[in-house]
Amino acid sequence: MKQDVCIIGGGLVGLSAALALARLGRSVVLLEARDLAVVEPQAMDARSIALSLSSQRIFEALDLWGDLRPNCAPIRHIHVSSAGHLGATRLHAEELGLDAMGQVIEYHLLQQTLLVEAEREKAIELRFPASVEAVHPHHDRVVIDTRIDGHPQPVEARLLLLADGGQSALAEQLGLQRQQQPYGQTAIVANLRAERDGEGWAWERFTADGPMAWLPLTRGRYALVWTLPPQQAESMLQAADDLFIDALHRRFGYRLGRLLEVGRRGHFELTLRRARPLTGPRWVLIGNAANTLHPVAGQGFNLALRDVAALSDSLQGRDLSEPLDDMLADYARRRAADQEHTIRWGNRLVSLFSNDLPLLGHARAAALGLLERCPPLKAELAWQGMGYGAGGLSGLMRGRP
Ligand SMILES: Cc1cc2nc3c(=O)[nH]c(=O)nc-3n(C[C@H](O)[C@H](O)[C@H](O)COP(=O)(O)OP(=O)(O)OC[C@H]3O[C@@H](n4cnc5c(N)ncnc54)[C@H](O)[C@@H]3O)c2cc1C
Repeated sequence: MKQDVCIIGGGLVGLSAALALARLGRSVVLLEARDLAVVEPQAMDARSIALSLSSQRIFEALDLWGDLRPNCAPIRHIHVSSAGHLGATRLHAEELGLDAMGQVIEYHLLQQTLLVEAEREKAIELRFPASVEAVHPHHDRVVIDTRIDGHPQPVEARLLLLADGGQSALAEQLGLQRQQQPYGQTAIVANLRAERDGEGWAWERFTADGPMAWLPLTRGRYALVWTLPPQQAESMLQAADDLFIDALHRRFGYRLGRLLEVGRRGHFELTLRRARPLTGPRWVLIGNAANTLHPVAGQGFNLALRDVAALSDSLQGRDLSEPLDDMLADYARRRAADQEHTIRWGNRLVSLFSNDLPLLGHARAAALGLLERCPPLKAELAWQGMGYGAGGLSGLMRGRP
């Protein structure tokens, strides 16, 4: 057998998993359909990822944090409010004994750092563009039919990680059921520059149209994620920059002074996707392929990284030539609580804060006001958001390399 593990998909999750498993001494082949030699977006055109504290700890343990850190902006304070109402909740890292509750990094910079590290890592063989056509699990290995430059090049490995984002037909070949539930919402993403630096503040603002998150970026910029019904999203995507900025001021106010510049706007149709089961004979589903979440709480990648860390615990010291079914089923069982909890929490936020009923608006504001006066509950929610909720601590979260 040439490789221990084959990973299909070189998105954030596939690359992170390759690095985590290589650090365990496993040999990894990663197959990606796209050409990963990325074209760098301009500073105002990037999509961003909020990394929770647990993700930071995992990257520290993988010795990746030194390279990521210069491109990260810390979240030191979070302000949650409902437009048109008075109640608000504030969370401060300092009150939790922390320097920051999370970090925000542009998507392409995170992906590029992971790619450069993976290219440096001797135990990882990267093959791209490589289109995978079929997967065949056997009792002792998985055979993957792949084509590179039009030529068939089959790959064999002891274990398959399917990190293909959930859009390919490969999961169906493994006999998986995929549950899809469209949210009927579109997320607009854009980077912004304002008169004032937000000094580590992140804002979650619930408006009558839908929730908006404002995340601090390096060099005083802000990353916006604004969730809207599709028609409104379409008109906001088409609006001239000054009209778009006016619409933001009406909903967000002038906390950052005047908004001066908005970058290219991107958009995502939002659907909750869950595939089950998550493991089978010699395969594991991971990342968006397993669970695609609503971005309202910024948890999709963070949850997947905790899955990667738990899987790396399960694989430590295992002889991969032996049957893996029990070990994989145990991994899936141990991860179920965190996955369920994170998905349910996000869905609750979506239904509570995407609803325009006036009474609900008052109740929402009252709840935020009450939360503000209940520090223990606030702290509990903050720790959940940072990835220390239902899942327990994996070795990587504790700092084991
Ligand atoms: C607007 C928005 C904001 C978000 N913000 C946050 C946030 O702040 N924090 C957070 O934690 N999460 C956030 N997320 C979620 C996060 O972006 C995802 O969880 C993460 O990017 C999923 O990565 P992935 O590698 O699983 O999937 P993908 O990025 O979809 O990668 C899958 C890869 O597989 C490849 N592939 C597919 N089929 C094949 C095949 N047959 N052969 C070879 N390769 C194949 C694809 O080309 C692709 O590169 C956000 C999501 C959205 C939409």
